[in-house]
Amino acid sequence: MGAGKWELEIDAVLLKFGVTRESLQENAAEELASSLQDYHDLAQQYSDMMTRFCYEDKPVRRSGVWCCPKCGKRVQYNHTHCHWCGKKMGWRQ
Ligand SMILES: [Zn+2]
Repeated sequence: MGAGKWELEIDAVLLKFGVTRESLQENAAEELASSLQDYHDLAQQYSDMMTRFCYEDKPVRRSGVWCCPKCGKRVQYNHTHCHWCGKKMGWRQ
């Protein structure tokens, strides 16, 4: 994501609270940007965790053994999660 979009979102937030960048104390806009970035990072991490631990992907059959669709390492048939990376397995898909 480019910085430009964040700039727009910060302006939108400021507008919502009826303030402008000019009326803010020095560094306040930067601190707000930093906070928004932190929330964005957390949301991304949470999304990655959901994808890994909560959403199933079908294991890949390779040379007669089942392999994890995420990390590619061998998984035991009918195990609920990959032993190596924790990816949830979808055997019924
Ligand atoms: Zn794995």
